[in-house]
Amino acid sequence: MGIKVAKFGGSSLADANQFKKVKQILLSDPDRRFAVPSAPGKRFKDDSKITDLLYKCYRQVEKGEDFQSAFSVIEERYRQIAFDLALDIDIDGLLDQTGKDIRRVATPDFAASRGEYLNGVLLSAYLGWDFIDPKNYIRFDRQGVFAEEWTNELLGSELRKHEHAVIPGFYGSVPNGEIRTFSRGGSDITGAVVARAAGAELYENWTDVSGFLMADPRIVENPREIRYLTYAELRELSYMGATVLHEESIFPVHKAGIPTNIKNTNDPAHPGTMILEKTPEGVQNAITGIAGHKNFSLISIEKAMLNSEKGFCRRVLSVLEDFDISIEHMPTGIDTVSVVVADSEIQDRAGEITHRIKEVCQPDHIEISGGIALIATVGVGMVRSPGTAAKLFNGLHRAGVNVRMIDQGSSELNIIVGVDTGDFDKAVRAIYEAFNA
Ligand code: ASP
Repeated sequence: MGIKVAKFGGSSLADANQFKKVKQILLSDPDRRFAVPSAPGKRFKDDSKITDLLYKCYRQVEKGEDFQSAFSVIEERYRQIAFDLALDIDIDGLLDQTGKDIRRVATPDFAASRGEYLNGVLLSAYLGWDFIDPKNYIRFDRQGVFAEEWTNELLGSELRKHEHAVIPGFYGSVPNGEIRTFSRGGSDITGAVVARAAGAELYENWTDVSGFLMADPRIVENPREIRYLTYAELRELSYMGATVLHEESIFPVHKAGIPTNIKNTNDPAHPGTMILEKTPEGVQNAITGIAGHKNFSLISIEKAMLNSEKGFCRRVLSVLEDFDISIEHMPTGIDTVSVVVADSEIQDRAGEITHRIKEVCQPDHIEISGGIALIATVGVGMVRSPGTAAKLFNGLHRAGVNVRMIDQGSSELNIIVGVDTGDFDKAVRAIYEAFNA
């Protein structure tokens, strides 16, 4: 029998009714031995997330203001859950102590971590499972960098002592014991870290959607669901804007060869998306997903005989490095080099950058144009599907989209096109339709 680690997002644990669904899910499979909860999320569209309220409390503590009105909203949420589930815990004492601790410790990380901590205490009481405080097992170094191997050892030996346990997500501690959190959405990382430390056969990430979709549903109507995704594809898609999972949660499980299953707490029978090392035999899609981002600039440089000039690209890049600019793509032609960078990297320095590149590289022509959107069409299947690029570009042509830049990674995992921002939605729909007509 393998072990499954189940992480539940904020909306999966937003109220008592959601807790009931979670309990049912956990008890319906004896392999589900470890649960990692987030803090309660939104119950409806305009509701507040506990974590946001906790940061607000911290800001008030920092300013020396009274945080009671923000904190009482938090207290009410937890009290309601404990009451509705008839939990046998001293919820008032717990909340009172938490308020005092937030005031005493007075750091943003500590305040924010209490959302997961309290939800973990409630969930473990509700399930009758052990509670493991990640403070003692999820470790960050003195610089605040997550100490992956140290954590793996500490947590691994602790988990072996428990048949069932709840381990709150999002936080751990630095060597002096101070609480430290991952970045926002970081309970996904805790879940992956617990899965690796437990030697799990599966990491289940329970959320409020049934996995990844082939394209953003705000752009493409009713996009298809992605049943299987490889970790490499997921990297590409999440870098380009698909936001179901925290980017960094991929690494611990990928390293340990553990698949991740994105599942829907509100529709547990749905298979969701399975993220694996390799696409299973028999699954043959030319493309897996489409994702994109706006707000890029294209630095286009032309120079006759550029291809025979040694060190040209290096000089361009060294100028960008001097400006501390990180680059996204660098497609080259015979006499041209283009560099794609995020607008935020250029800020208002376009004039200065142009001037410096002219000085160092003496190009015939250089231009920096903003307003570019990048769209990645991703799929491990494209290597063995001739005609993928033709389909994609025909689709864009039919839709009248002008392609400003093309880049295909050498892994043949993706084709990236740059289009004018105004063409973004049209281009995503055109690519989607080209592969799903
Ligand atoms: N509660 C934290 C946040 O809102 C962490 C998480 O939910 O993953 O960012």
